[in-house]
Amino acid sequence: MNIITRNQWGAKVTAPLQKLNLAKVNAIALHHMASPTADIYEVQRWHLNSPNNWRCLGYHYWVGFDGKIYEGRGFEHVGAGVANQNDRIISIGFQGNYQSGLANIPLSPPMPDAQFNAGVDIINFVRTQVMTAHILGGHSEFMATACPGDMFPLEEMKALKKRNSGYILSSSVDDLMNELVWRGIVSDVEMWRRRGNEDVNLRYFYDKYYHYMLFNGGSVKADFPSLATAMDIFVKQGIVSNVDLWMEKMDGDDNLMWLFRKLAAYVN
Ligand SMILES: [Zn+2]
Repeated sequence: MNIITRNQWGAKVTAPLQKLNLAKVNAIALHHMASPTADIYEVQRWHLNSPNNWRCLGYHYWVGFDGKIYEGRGFEHVGAGVANQNDRIISIGFQGNYQSGLANIPLSPPMPDAQFNAGVDIINFVRTQVMTAHILGGHSEFMATACPGDMFPLEEMKALKKRNSGYILSSSVDDLMNELVWRGIVSDVEMWRRRGNEDVNLRYFYDKYYHYMLFNGGSVKADFPSLATAMDIFVKQGIVSNVDLWMEKMDGDDNLMWLFRKLAAYVN
């Protein structure tokens, strides 16, 4: 686990922060941003600007969709995540809007594995550093608020078990890209390389597909399978296990759907 320090990400601290007495800390609260797009810099802007007028990003740590973990106030300073209880709570913010049904604020897709796993990492890290922080809950368990949202995987995260943790990647994205170019399957290599590096689910898919092709071979077939057939093929060959996740990811993503169907056509 790597934490991007305030210096590294260029955090602004406009006035000295209040020291946190760790002996009093007994809880960790999880938050979402109620925004599907705000990054760490935008959240920082919200917090520094009036009416908040805070001296620094309010969370102790912040986790991006890509699994990057940013230091906000760290362990040393009192946070601004849970009104009137900040002397006993470490707050961790998560990029995204995980509350459904908000007017004009689109719901984020299901929390990416990279973000989820980084969340488990930073919670475990806080718990090893602050042994008295026994309580782990959503913001709404400490006060009346919708945060972190009804679609935040709160119970799953409380179990502190990482997703895909039994699977070890053993090929690079470039390995698969070379294979796909050689087979004449993809032309926009840059896009698929970038997407593979950004999306941990796709990254695992690439790895499994690459190994399948390496060991089993595969040949071009005349027909281009339907999405349902493609899914069946991947499930049967152990390349995909969570069908719901992939169906959701492909909803409205014609490129990804095309890739799935195209790749399935090569599986023997
Ligand atoms: Zn919150």
